[in-house]
Amino acid sequence: MAETLIRRAGTVLTMDDTRQELSRADILIRDGVIAEIGEGLTTTGETVDARGCVVTPGLVNTHHHLYQTLTRAVPGGQDALLFGWLRTLYPIWARFGPEEMRVSALTGLAELALSGCTMSSDHLYLYPNGARLDDTIDAAREIGLRFHPTRGAMSIGESDGGLPPDVLVEAEAAILEDCVRVIDAHHDASEGAMVRVGIAPCSPFSVSRDLMREAALLARDKGVMLHTHLAENDEDIAYSQARFGCRPGQYAEDLGWTGEDVWHAHCVKLDGAEIDLFARSRTGIAHCPCSNCRLGSGIAPVRAMRDAGVKVALGVDGSASNDSGNLVAEARQAMLLQRVARGADAMSAREALEIATRGGADVLGRPDTGRLAPGKRADIAIWDVSGVESAGSWDPAALLLAGPTQVRHLFVEGRQVVRDFHVTTIDLPRVLEDQRRLARRLMT
Ligand SMILES: [Zn+2]
Repeated sequence: MAETLIRRAGTVLTMDDTRQELSRADILIRDGVIAEIGEGLTTTGETVDARGCVVTPGLVNTHHHLYQTLTRAVPGGQDALLFGWLRTLYPIWARFGPEEMRVSALTGLAELALSGCTMSSDHLYLYPNGARLDDTIDAAREIGLRFHPTRGAMSIGESDGGLPPDVLVEAEAAILEDCVRVIDAHHDASEGAMVRVGIAPCSPFSVSRDLMREAALLARDKGVMLHTHLAENDEDIAYSQARFGCRPGQYAEDLGWTGEDVWHAHCVKLDGAEIDLFARSRTGIAHCPCSNCRLGSGIAPVRAMRDAGVKVALGVDGSASNDSGNLVAEARQAMLLQRVARGADAMSAREALEIATRGGADVLGRPDTGRLAPGKRADIAIWDVSGVESAGSWDPAALLLAGPTQVRHLFVEGRQVVRDFHVTTIDLPRVLEDQRRLARRLMT
């Protein structure tokens, strides 16, 4: 029986059903699960001193393309709009293979872990030169983060009027076959699962209507979730209306792409009727504020979505469109962006943190995570608020107003992945050396 005791936390933001905030509380972890929260707890196992720290549930990232960690700040894409940005990067990505996928995933997951993230989704939609979803799953197992990889896909290449070059698209039958393979090999439906696989055609403009429909049928047959990009910017809406004769919400609904087993990235341009549809159908959203700013896509109507009852989560999006992958900084950006649109009372620091923790867990169908309560998985972030970023703060628990952007300690399923600001589970300097070597190769 493995036990760890987190002792005398300054404040615990539980994000439980009553949003309790506890002072000087202890958290006892036993076999990967939170056994008890209270004062004066004891253990014969390891003890972690959390005095002067704020403790939160681990943050949850619901949209990423980890492979892009190798193509940050590419000059030709730095100032381009979405479609132009994609056209710049596709030929570079076409040179990736299994090693690029594994090393970029390790780097991106390490960056997330250091920013307080315990569970991440990933959307891998291109498989050049023998790359497989398994390459990223190996990386997640190595570093020890809870992982929801999605088997993405593109099937309409340039010669069929699509955006990606033909070399990056796959035949639809092969895509569905590989979805079945990775689900059967890696998906774990049980409580506390470390890996759950989803199905995720890249976007309505890179696969056919048939593949969208078949993907939804397969996901329901296998009991896995569905994910894609939707309504990201004005070009996206114009494309939907020109090609499908309807708005993205209608397209999604017609093809079976609404429901509590579906979450869509971005949704910057959803209108009122689409927001109502997503609320009614319990469809989730991965809000990616930095990417939306970076690509000039607009401000997602998160306040209106939350008020309508839509499930909203947070995503850093790919490192090539952010270009950072710091999840707690992303939560701050979400808070700030709603204030740009709606005023200073549009979103509090605590609400944005709730979206980043509990909100993410709910969108990914993981009520066993995202909150600190007995019986929940021990995914825990410990923030040191004694540093210069928090100095003078009257409310250190308002982390997103004046708080650290790196976590001090991080536990996933009770295992310590970050200790004193360092990743413990992998040799990060070695990974970064590999990353530099691979990036140099891609630049030539
Ligand atoms: Zn994306």
